[in-house]
Amino acid sequence: MTHNNDHVVIIGGGGTAIATMYDLCLRGFKVTLIEKGELTSGTTGRHHGQLHCGARYAMGDKNIAKECMTESALLRKIAPNAIEYNMGMFVALNDDDMQYKDNFIQCCLDADIPAREIPISLAFEYEKELNRNIKAAVMVPDGTIDPWRLAISFAAGALKTGNAEIKTYHEVIAINKNASNIESVTVINHISHKKETILGDIFINAGGPWAGKIAELAGIDLPVSPSPGTMLAAKKRISNMVVSRLHEAGDGDIVVPQRQLTIIGSTQWLSDNPDINRVPQEDIDFLNKSAIDIFPCFKNLEYHTAWAAARPLYGKHSTSEGVRNLSRDYIAVDHEKHDGVDNMISIVGGKATTLRAMGEVVSDMLCKKVGLDIKGRTSEIILPNYREYYRGGRNGQTD
Ligand SMILES: Cc1cc2nc3c(=O)[nH]c(=O)nc-3n(C[C@H](O)[C@H](O)[C@H](O)COP(=O)(O)OP(=O)(O)OC[C@H]3O[C@@H](n4cnc5c(N)ncnc54)[C@H](O)[C@@H]3O)c2cc1C
Repeated sequence: MTHNNDHVVIIGGGGTAIATMYDLCLRGFKVTLIEKGELTSGTTGRHHGQLHCGARYAMGDKNIAKECMTESALLRKIAPNAIEYNMGMFVALNDDDMQYKDNFIQCCLDADIPAREIPISLAFEYEKELNRNIKAAVMVPDGTIDPWRLAISFAAGALKTGNAEIKTYHEVIAINKNASNIESVTVINHISHKKETILGDIFINAGGPWAGKIAELAGIDLPVSPSPGTMLAAKKRISNMVVSRLHEAGDGDIVVPQRQLTIIGSTQWLSDNPDINRVPQEDIDFLNKSAIDIFPCFKNLEYHTAWAAARPLYGKHSTSEGVRNLSRDYIAVDHEKHDGVDNMISIVGGKATTLRAMGEVVSDMLCKKVGLDIKGRTSEIILPNYREYYRGGRNGQTD
């Protein structure tokens, strides 16, 4: 089924754009996705890799926590090739952490997250390298995502519908309007260095931390704060599961085992520019110390690498503290209502864990806008293996 008159152009090739493409293709839309680099070359290919069950957000925002619980369970079902469901443990290291424990467990339970305290002896059995001074341990259903494989499984699913066209190494450099209607985008092909015009009926801005800059091309002021953070990877896997500090969500308090690496993250600073080309040495030193607090053996490990990526936070703030307090939720904005541009929607914020839900929300908004009642099906279908992406998505299993 294709709605021939509804050609959707999606700008961006991160998890949000790819999941949106997949959802719309399943609903029968013809979709062209335009990405200036390789798929996932923005924040999606550089995040920490935690499959959030929502425990980290339970005390701050129950709705985000609940959604993470639902979405992480769904991703485990539909994208088994990209998820290691290894569980999560929150550990208390001092008396302040202990003060936080009971309320934390209650807030998790209120958000339908099955958190439970376990005896410290059992925590050491599960995680042999843990700091011997921990005072309490709480288990939650976190896991590890392979960021690239997850997004690429969605891309394989989209290609398999026959409705998707993916243009990588194409950067949108202009958005061409006729009065209030966008007619096309101008792209530069970074391989051939040639310009091209791509026509469309509806345009979706899924540019992550670049979404504000993309909106500017259409004359729209979209408040987005690129909020970079650093991660540090060491060359040995020292935990079985995701281990977090049992305190208010902050910097350097999550250790994620990713294949044979251990990744500690992250930090947060303020920037106008999502193209991050520096990793502050003070961040590396801080992360190293934070990892040692949880796993003393971290000090003996060889570094693999350190890198940074920008969170696409919705909202504007001029101070680091202000940006830190911006919501981790996502928002879909219909620019017809807000900015007088008829046929453009932006989707900003969220997490890699919520990519499917974000794709569904923006696709629902698009369907409503064009007067079509077509339900999303992405929660029902097992995604093809990410490898199918390279075979044109034609050989994997679906429904
Ligand atoms: C330090 C850090 C740690 C994180 N850890 C986790 C975690 O453990 N778990 C979790 O669930 N989430 C995590 N996140 C959040 C998660 O990574 C992001 O929310 C998510 O990856 C954003 O995806 P996106 O597709 O919206 O943006 P992006 O992946 O950035 O995609 C936007 C794309 O748009 C492209 N683009 C930009 N401008 C143009 C243009 N003009 N033309 C064409 N293409 C363009 C970019 O190249 C980019 O690929 C973390 C984020 C950060 C920063």
